[in-house]
Order: sequence, then structure tokens, then C-alpha cells
Amino acid sequence: MDIVGRCASFTRSRQARSLGLYPFYSAFSGRGPGAARTVGGRDVIVCGSGDYLGLAADPRVTEAAAEAVRRYGTGSSGSRLLNGNLDLHEQLEDELAQFFGKPAALVFATGYQAGLGAVAGLCRTGDHVLVDQEAHASLVDAARLSRARVHWFPHNDTDRLAAGLKALPGNGGRMVVVDGVYSMRGDLCPLPDLVRVCHEHRATLVVDDAHGAGVLAEGHGTCAQYGLTDDVPVISLTFSKAFASIGGAVLGDKAVIEYLRHYARPLVFSAGASPANTAAALEALRIVRDEPWRGRAALDNAHRMRHALSALGYRVPPGETPLVPVDIGDELRTAVAWKLLLDRGVHVNAVMPPAAPACLRASFCASHTREQLDAVTAAFADIREPLAALALPENGLTA
Ligand code: PMP
Repeated sequence: MDIVGRCASFTRSRQARSLGLYPFYSAFSGRGPGAARTVGGRDVIVCGSGDYLGLAADPRVTEAAAEAVRRYGTGSSGSRLLNGNLDLHEQLEDELAQFFGKPAALVFATGYQAGLGAVAGLCRTGDHVLVDQEAHASLVDAARLSRARVHWFPHNDTDRLAAGLKALPGNGGRMVVVDGVYSMRGDLCPLPDLVRVCHEHRATLVVDDAHGAGVLAEGHGTCAQYGLTDDVPVISLTFSKAFASIGGAVLGDKAVIEYLRHYARPLVFSAGASPANTAAALEALRIVRDEPWRGRAALDNAHRMRHALSALGYRVPPGETPLVPVDIGDELRTAVAWKLLLDRGVHVNAVMPPAAPACLRASFCASHTREQLDAVTAAFADIREPLAALALPENGLTA
């Protein structure tokens, strides 16, 4: 079959859409109060956003972005290496390094590029990169694009990681790649064990803290929560979640950052982060620093909802991050639950294979009001009966 023919035979998304059970690409057209946003002409309470601190519509952040557009224009107009480097990028790097307690930082145009740049930029042919099986797709892609040999270890299994490292030949660099907070299930990496194992086996640990930075440990992130920032040589983050923008950064020693400035291909061969995004992230970082209550509020809201949803009988694993997965069943049950909630004014993310096993992936933010959380709980209570009444084949949409 030719390539275009293969695309034409991809019909699953169209089938799901025609049934009203397509949980992706909802088009939001505006923002309401708290965590509300407009979709299809009506306000819904969004419980899937990465705007954990509620800063994406904060007037201080939007004004910083607008001011940057007035001052610098809309684009960065080139690679930072050549003509797209702004004093704003460097100011953000200085303040990120200071806030997160690392010697240096490097700003990328997206979080995906930051992870890709760090992993693929630091590894060479002959190296080994060991990746947690549930690491974010950006890290999986990064490992594949690096010229290192890729090894997978079972999720959070540091014994298997240690055995894998022990079995490696003595030559070649070794890198271990994990998420700080896993994006699908919201669980934390076992950082103390990872640091110990990496130290014992001379491996460089890279932690992608997209979901922990700005939230955990008063915003200082997962490594700080464990008191281990100094023991993690490379940390990557994104601005698309707590930092209310688009972009990302790598934090590490000055030598690592200087090397990446020349070897991270997503930095060198792609345009620098836009002025508006850079200024928004900088303003958000300053708010994170000055208003540490925001991270705590997001965690409190998530804690409250974990409790409320478990009390309703939903399967919600314990956790200590703003991400709250709700196991509903197979793909079809999950899609139906998504639709039933949307009909009741609640937008929750649906996770589907192959990204991860099907579940509703809720997230709770500092901006959710008490009334909104109560309304979300009421919607989950309300859909229990129609969900229970569904007699569906086990394998859902694939049946
Ligand atoms: N790493 C992790 C763990 C993520 O969850 C994400 C985004 N979902 C990224 C990296 C990519 O970040 P960005 O959206 O800024 O490209």
C-alpha cells in the first residue's frame, strides 16, 4: 500500500468522531472564570490543563507577553546561534539557574526540544542510554535520535536498572533518563535510588521535570522535593505547564550547558523561543518565586479530588502531584465517560493506547475554585449510573 493509501485507510478517528466519542482536539475559543474555558460556545470546567498555577491568563503574564511583542516583535527570526538570541532568553536563563539552584540554564523553544536537545545532544555513538519504559515520548524520541545504544528498564525499577548498568561494557558513556513526575499516571520517580544507582555505575542522570517544576517543593520541583538537586547533573523542564507559556529549558553545570549550546540540534537548527513566550515564562517564574502558595493550592485541590473521586468508588491511585488518573476501563468505556462528563460541563483528558493504557487523566490547578471542584465531583457522581449500565465488549473501540 502506498503512503497516502495507508492514511486513507486510517478510519478510527473518523468513526469515533461520527459517534461523538472522539476525545481529542477539542477547540477552545476562550477563557471563563477560574479553570473554565469555552468550547463549542459554552463554558466548561477544564480538568486536564497543565496550567497548574493558573497563570496562563494572569494579567501580569499576559501583559509581559504583550510588552515583549511591542518591544521585540512577534518572532525571534532565527536560531539563537546566529541571529535569534535575545537578551530576554539570557535573562530567563540566569533567573532559572538561580531559582532551581543549578549553575547554568539553556532555553529552548519547547519542552520537547529541551529533552531532545539534552539527551541526543549529550550522547554519542558508543554511549548507552537507559530509559524508563514510561518516560515521556520526547525522551523516547530523544534516545532513538541519539546515536547511543538504547536500553529500556521497567518503570521505576531501580534494581533492573542497576542490573542493566552492571551488564554494560566498560567503555562508552552511560545516561539514565527518567521523568520527575510521570505525565500519564502522575507518579514520582524514585529519585534517591536513581541517584545512588547512577553514582555506583558512573551514569549521568537526566530528569525531565516538566510536571514537577513550578509545583512541587514550592515550585523548585521534584529534585528539590527529595533534596537532591545537586545530585542530578541534568534537569529539563517545560514552560507549557506551570510556567504558563511555551518553551523549555535544560539546567546543569556550566560545561554541560556550553556543550549543548553547540551540540543540541533542536537549539542550533530551530528558531529561538518567541519574545512573547520567553517574557511570559520569565514573568511566570517570578510569580512562582514570589507566590509559593500556588503550587500548594494545586496540590491541595488534587488531594481533595483524589479523595472525592475515590469516595465515589472510582479507581484513583494514590499520589502527590496535580495529575490524577481515573481508571474507567477499556477505550470505549473511557471515551463514553469523557463524553458524559463533557455533556455535564467538565472537560477531562482521555488517555488512549498506544500512548498508555486507557484512562481519564485529570489534573487540578490552583485556579480551580471550590465551586468548580464541587461541580466536577457532582458530574463524576452523575455519570456513575449511565457508565454502570453500559454493557460493552471488553476491547472497546477495537471490537
Ligand atoms: N516532558 C514531559 C514529561 C511532558 O509531559 C511534556 C508535555 N506533555 C513534554 C516533555 C513536552 O513539553 P512541551 O509541551 O513544552 O513541548
